[in-house]
Amino acid sequence: MFALNFNKIIMPIFYGKAALAEFLNSVKTQNSTIGFVPTMGALHQGHLSLMQQSLAENNNTVVSIFVNPTQFNNAEDLEKYPRTLEEDTQKIFQLNANIIVYAPTVDDIYEGKVISQNFDFDGLENQMEGKFRPGHFNGVGTIVKRLFEIVSPNNAYFGKKDFQQLQIVKKMVLKNHLNVNIIGCEIHREANGLAMSSRNERLSASEKEQAAIIYQTLLQAKEKFKAQDCKSVKQWVKDVFDTNTNFDLEYFEIADEETLIPCDEKTKDKNYRAFIAVFVNNIRLIDTISLK
Ligand code: AMP
Repeated sequence: MFALNFNKIIMPIFYGKAALAEFLNSVKTQNSTIGFVPTMGALHQGHLSLMQQSLAENNNTVVSIFVNPTQFNNAEDLEKYPRTLEEDTQKIFQLNANIIVYAPTVDDIYEGKVISQNFDFDGLENQMEGKFRPGHFNGVGTIVKRLFEIVSPNNAYFGKKDFQQLQIVKKMVLKNHLNVNIIGCEIHREANGLAMSSRNERLSASEKEQAAIIYQTLLQAKEKFKAQDCKSVKQWVKDVFDTNTNFDLEYFEIADEETLIPCDEKTKDKNYRAFIAVFVNNIRLIDTISLK
């Protein structure tokens, strides 16, 4: 089970689901709520802001730290994903020592069968990240469903940085009649606008500075979208990255926020959002912005 000891203050940390479930049962009362923040660790201010929201809105907050193998379609990306459990638990402890940390092993989650369940997300899974990362959202659905079964949260917090993931999780909850509120949280950014991400740790200082272009381009695309059609804005973004050899644009898409269907002709009653995935020195970064 348990217990990281920071200066004689004990912080609950669990490596196995049975002990976690037992502990959660013991702290649960009739009217208390559990807020849940699933993460893959290498925590930054974006993750911590989700935890702060959960702390403000619930009696208990559970944070999971688990690099989920089934959502990686690229073995090198999985292998190089930063794993910093000790620093992570210290950051959580500094935020609030009552947060309950669940850092399971692969076996605790998958019980010997590291495979994804197949989901139907009504087509949300076929766009953008789904197109470029085959199997990714089946992996996300599998781990989130599994974690929800283990933690039984009332509220679960997800960042809008992974907006497609947020919509996928909402769809999974709806289709499986799960009793959990999914709350979308705002994107935290570095001072230069770069969306915070665990993958940013792999960027050099100069790459981090240059990567500001991603958010700057999104802001300009939003401005252009007021007067231009979807196709012209998409072409403009493509041209920006074509002339910049340090970045390799995987996709830029403008899509309906609800269905994630790419915009062809603009329709007044729809809320559009721009989505981007860019490689910087083989490191894949994503970002998104509401075009409203
Ligand atoms: P990850 O550890 O990358 O799986 O992220 C765990 C959660 O934190 C997900 O719901 C992400 O969307 C969210 N998250 C990651 N980066 C940010 C950010 N910069 N701002 C807000 N939420 C974020």
